[in-house]
Amino acid sequence: MKVLKFGGTSVGTPQRMKDVVKLINDGEQKIVVLSAMSGTTNTLIEIADYLYKKNPEGANETINSLEKKYRRHIDELYSTEEWKEKTLDFIKQEFDYLRSFTKGIFTMFEEKIIVGQGEILSTNMVTNYLQELGVNATLIPALEFMRTDKNGEPDLQYIGEKIKIQLEENPGKEIYITQGFICRNAYGEVDNLQRGGSDYTASLIGAAVNATEIQIWTDIDGMHNNDPRFVENTSPVSQLHFEEAAELAYFGAKILHPTCIQPAKFARIPVKLLNTMDPTAPGTVISNETEYRKIKAVAAKDNITAINITSSRMLLAYGFLRKVFEIFESYKTSIDMICTSEVGVSVSIDNTTNLSAILNELKKFAQCHIERIEEIRHSESGKGHVHHLRCWRPRLAECRLRISSHRCHEEYSSAHDFIRR
Ligand code: ASP
Repeated sequence: MKVLKFGGTSVGTPQRMKDVVKLINDGEQKIVVLSAMSGTTNTLIEIADYLYKKNPEGANETINSLEKKYRRHIDELYSTEEWKEKTLDFIKQEFDYLRSFTKGIFTMFEEKIIVGQGEILSTNMVTNYLQELGVNATLIPALEFMRTDKNGEPDLQYIGEKIKIQLEENPGKEIYITQGFICRNAYGEVDNLQRGGSDYTASLIGAAVNATEIQIWTDIDGMHNNDPRFVENTSPVSQLHFEEAAELAYFGAKILHPTCIQPAKFARIPVKLLNTMDPTAPGTVISNETEYRKIKAVAAKDNITAINITSSRMLLAYGFLRKVFEIFESYKTSIDMICTSEVGVSVSIDNTTNLSAILNELKKFAQCHIERIEEIRHSESGKGHVHHLRCWRPRLAECRLRISSHRCHEEYSSAHDFIRR
C-alpha cells in the first residue's frame, strides 16, 4: 500500500481538491494524508491569539470570515445538493464548535484543538467529494491512532496497532483519507506534530503500515539543487540518500519537514517528492541508495548562532568535548555544525532559548565568544554523504560553487584560524 500526502497548497482551492482527487482515484489502494487548506492553520492561530488576549469579538469576526470562505468552497466543490447540504451541515457544526471557545477559559489545551481544525475540515471535504463521485473512500481519524509518548516523540507501537484496527474496521476501501499534523499526546489530549508536521504524519503512517512508497505532493517538482527563491535556473535532484535529504531539509530546503524522513528511513521506505501542478514530472526519490562522488545540492541556513569555545585545558586533554556536549545535552539544545582545533571548538546552534544558561556553564572552564550570523552561507550535499562546507564565516572553508551566474570563491582556513579570529 502507498501513502500519499498533499500539502496545504495542493488542497488550497476547490479546483486543487478536484485535481488531487483525479490523482488519487486510480483504482490502487492507498492512504492519503491531507494538510489544512493553505492559510487556514495561520488563521486558526490568529483566532487562538485573540482568545489568549481575551478578545472574543476579534476571534468571532475571524471565525465568521473563515466560515464564509469555506461555504464558498463547498458551493464550488460539490455538484449535487445532497453533498453540498451534508458538507455545509458539517461545516456549521465545526464553526459552532470554534465559536464555543470564545465563551470559556482559554488555555494551551483549547489552542491545540483549534489549530488542528483545518485538517479536520479539509479531510472531511475531500472524503465527501470522493463519496459524491462514488469512489470507495473513507475517513480514518488521525486522533484515533496518531499519538506521542511522554517525551513528545511518536509512539510507534501504538500508532502501528491502532492504525491496523482502523484499516480492519474499514475493510476493502480503495482510499483511506486521514489528517496530517494532528495527534494526541500521552495523556490523550489533542496535540500536534508542530508546524508543517503533515509530512511527519505521512512518514509515520508509511512506517506503521510498511508502505511500499511514501509520496509527498507539493507545488514544486522535487528537491532542487539550490533555493529557487534566491537562485535562478535551479533544477530538481532526481535521487537523494535519506541523510542527504534530511540535511538539506534541515539546512533550508523548505519542501520537506526535516524530521519527516526518520521513520521512512528506519523502515527503508522510499519517499518520492512530487508536484501536483506537474504530476508527470519525475520529482525526487529519497532512499537508501547512494550516488558517490556527485555534488547534489547547495542549501543555506541563516539566523544561526556560533559559539567559539576556547580553553588551554583542551590542549592534549581528553574528555573536553564530552564536557561541552553534556552541557548542550542537559539544556536540550542541538548542535548543528562543529569544528575543532587543539585549543578550541566552535559550534553553531539555532535554538537560543537556553543560550545564557549554556554560556554560564561553559564559562566555568572555557572562554566563549558568541556570533550571530544572519546572512546566508552555503552547505553542500554530495559525494555520497551530505558534506557541509560549514562556512559560517567566510574564511572557514573553500567553496567553489556555481551559484546562478556568480562564482563564489571562499578561502580555506583551519578551524584553529577560525577560532582565533
Ligand atoms: N497545517 C499545518 C501547518 O500549516 C500542518 C501542515 O500543513 O503540515 O503547519
